[in-house]
Amino acid sequence: MRIAITAVVLFTLAVGTSGQQAATHFDGKTWWEHVKFLADDSLEGRDTGSEGIKKAQAYAVEQFKKAGLTPAGTEGFYQPVAFMQYQVDEAKSSLTLMANGKSEAISFADDGFISTRLTHKSAELTAPLVFVGYGLRVPERNLDEFAGVDLKGKIAVYLAGSPEEVPSSLAAHYQTIGERWKALQAAGAVGLITIYNPASMDIPWARISVNRNHPAVDLADAEFHEAEGLQIAVAFNPASAEKLFAGSGHTFAEIAALGKDRKPLPHFALASSLKANSVIVGTPLKCQNVVAKLEGSDPALKNEFVVLSAHVDHVGIGAPIGGDKIYNGAMDDGSGAALVLDFAAEMKAHPEKLKRSVLFLLVTAEEKGLLGSKYFAAHPTVAAKAIVADINVDMFLPIAPLKVLRIQGIADSSLGEHAAEVARSFGVKPVADPEPLRNLFIRSDQYYFIRHGVPSVIMDVFFEPGSPEQKLFKDWLTNRYHAPSDDVNQPVDLNSAALYEEITHKLLVDTANGGSAPKWNADSFFKRYATN
Ligand SMILES: [Zn+2]
Repeated sequence: MRIAITAVVLFTLAVGTSGQQAATHFDGKTWWEHVKFLADDSLEGRDTGSEGIKKAQAYAVEQFKKAGLTPAGTEGFYQPVAFMQYQVDEAKSSLTLMANGKSEAISFADDGFISTRLTHKSAELTAPLVFVGYGLRVPERNLDEFAGVDLKGKIAVYLAGSPEEVPSSLAAHYQTIGERWKALQAAGAVGLITIYNPASMDIPWARISVNRNHPAVDLADAEFHEAEGLQIAVAFNPASAEKLFAGSGHTFAEIAALGKDRKPLPHFALASSLKANSVIVGTPLKCQNVVAKLEGSDPALKNEFVVLSAHVDHVGIGAPIGGDKIYNGAMDDGSGAALVLDFAAEMKAHPEKLKRSVLFLLVTAEEKGLLGSKYFAAHPTVAAKAIVADINVDMFLPIAPLKVLRIQGIADSSLGEHAAEVARSFGVKPVADPEPLRNLFIRSDQYYFIRHGVPSVIMDVFFEPGSPEQKLFKDWLTNRYHAPSDDVNQPVDLNSAALYEEITHKLLVDTANGGSAPKWNADSFFKRYATN
C-alpha cells in the first residue's frame, strides 16, 4: 500500500510556489526508513525508561552525529530526567457506591478505575458525590460551574468536555489537571470522577480498560506536582454512568445528549457517596530527552533558538490485541521523531545559512502526560529566554493526500499565521481546529512551550468535512491509535509525508531567518505566558 513519490507531487510543488523553482527536499522514503527503525518490534514500543527507547535514542544520537549537529543536552546529547512510576494494587483496592444503606461495587474493568496519572498516594475515604457539569471554571467567559455548589469534602463528578461558549484553546487549557484541580480544591473538593464524553472518545472503553493498570508516570521533582491534596481520581465508563445518577432526578442519557453538542449542563448533588480504598505503589524510573543543535550563522541571532520537537517515546508493551502486544507507535510518534532525524540529514546534505540556531529535540514521556517537554521547558538546556518558537510534530498522519493542513495555534501567533501562509504557498488549505472536544492543543509537547511563553504550532494532515478521508481518519483513531496496529504494516502515503515535510521545513527555515522572532497575537489567551 505504500506509494512511491511520483512526478505529480513534484509538479504540484513547483506550481504551488508560483513559478519559482521549488526546492524539493524530501521524497518520503528516507523519512519512512527512520519510521521503520523506530517502530520495529525489537524496540518494543519505546516505553519511557525501557531498553527499547534507549535503542531509539542511541539511533537518534547516531543520526545527529552523522548530520554534524552539536550535542545540546546536559550529558552530551542527553538530558537525564528523573521520574516516578505509579500503579494501583487493584487486588487491595476497591470503589463502592453507597446510597440509602445499600452498597454497589464498582468494577474496575467495566465501570470505572482509579487513575494514578492524577493521584500518587494511597487513600481511604468516603465522600458524597456532586455533579458539576463539565467541572470548569473559566473566568474569561464568566463560567464558574462551582458557584453555589457545596463541594466541601466532596467528590466532583463531571463530563469531559466544555460548553460551546468557551473557545477550544481556552477549554483545553482549563481542562489540564493543574488548572482544574486549582479550581476544585479552592471549592473544597477532595476527589474527582471524570466521565468520558461519548462524543469525543478516541479510544473505546474496552481498549482503555484493558490497559488501565499500565503504570502511570510523573516527574519525580515535587515542583511539577499539580494535584497535591487530590485524594482520589476515577475515570468512568459512560456506558456505566447511569449508576452514578440513580436517585438524583437526572439521567446520564440527558447529560450526554447535552454534552454532545457542548450545551450548558446542570449542577446538582448526586444521591450516592463513593467509598474509596486505593492502594498505590510508587517506584523510581529514569529516562532522558535527546537534544542536538544546528548553530545559526548570524552573530547575534545565533543566540536565539527555534525548536523542532517530537516525542520519541510510545506506550511500550500492553495487552495483546489480535495476538500482538507490541504497541509500535509508528505514527505516534515514530513519524514525528523520524521527521526530526530526516531534517537533520537533509540540512546536512543541503546546508542553508540559517540566522538563528535550531534545536532538534526528541522528548521522552509524552505518552505519560507530556512529561519530557514539561521538564525541558522548565529546565531548558539553552537560556530559557533564547527559545523563540516551537514547531512540534506529533502523529501528523500522512495516510491520505495532503490537501488540508490542520494548524493548532493558527490564530494565536505570527508563527501560526506564517504556517498558514506556507501551507497556501504549496497549494494546501490551512484550517483551524474543527474538533475542539478532542483538546488537541494541550495533548502534545508544544503545550509546555506555550506555558513558558514560546509561540508554538503543531500541524497535521487533515480532511474536508464529509469527504471520504474523514472516515479514514476516524477509523484510524478507532482501530490503530494507541493500538499494536499502529505499526509499519499500515498504509502510508509517502507523497503526503514528503509534502508535509516540505511545508514544515519551509516554516522552520523562515522562522530561523525571520527579521523578528514570532510574536503572540494580542487577542490570544496564551499571550499571558509571554516573557519576551
Ligand atoms: Zn500517543
